[in-house]
Amino acid sequence: MIDTHAHLYFDSFNDDREEVIKRIDDELDAVINIGIDTTSNKKVIELAQNNDRLFAVVGFNPEAVVKLLESDKNTDDLQIELGELLLPRNKIVGIGEIGLDYYWKEFAAESQRELQKKGFRAQVEFAIKNELPIVIHSRDAFFDTFKILSDYKDESYFKGVWHSFTIDKSGGANGVSPKEQLEKVLGLGLYIGVNGIVTFPSARGLQELIKEAPLGRVLLETDSPFLAPQPKRGKRNEPVFVRFVAKKIAEIKGASVNDVAIQTDRNAKELFGLES
Ligand SMILES: [Zn+2]
Repeated sequence: MIDTHAHLYFDSFNDDREEVIKRIDDELDAVINIGIDTTSNKKVIELAQNNDRLFAVVGFNPEAVVKLLESDKNTDDLQIELGELLLPRNKIVGIGEIGLDYYWKEFAAESQRELQKKGFRAQVEFAIKNELPIVIHSRDAFFDTFKILSDYKDESYFKGVWHSFTIDKSGGANGVSPKEQLEKVLGLGLYIGVNGIVTFPSARGLQELIKEAPLGRVLLETDSPFLAPQPKRGKRNEPVFVRFVAKKIAEIKGASVNDVAIQTDRNAKELFGLES
């Protein structure tokens, strides 16, 4: 099984990171650590260099983009910084997490949304140029995220995953049903990342949607240390808990956990080109 989205560099792993990685070695095939800013991009690379099963994705999330572009940096600087990281030994398998986040008021004021969009586009273009898949973060920003991605979907290389795919309230508010949201994302040729949210009893709507989603387009993820699945809800999440996500998807689809694991592993390897 592969956890395609984790943040093992967070402080909440400082006390027992080696043990968490040991459990990964015992139970999982691979884990992809996702950077969000300059500091964490370095950390995901370091983790990947030191552990066979760990891979790195680097990028600037919406908050980091706003901070950088409000300082003396421009979008060229973002691309240059990412470019300097792309060395074979760094095991970088994608660009992310990148996207738009209109949920947090501190960096999603109207003028800041424009900065988010600029930074997102610059990083999508960087990924395309370097033939790397993108890991997309979109919160309360379905339409703008979709619109920007639509501009690139016909490029000769355009691959990625819509991480933490859930029912976006801003989409619903604009009259696009959850099912249409799913169709639009799949229509872009993207994978959807499914995490612990799907295991929550309150997530009936999402469960219905995942039932409709082709397994060939689903990736398993945890978003560790966040979003711990049932029955670990409320605790710190860690990559091996991805098995609870797989179990729930199997239950929803009436498939075996093994079938879910085999298909989603195949998807992850296809998208990120993992050698393991
Ligand atoms: Zn994340």
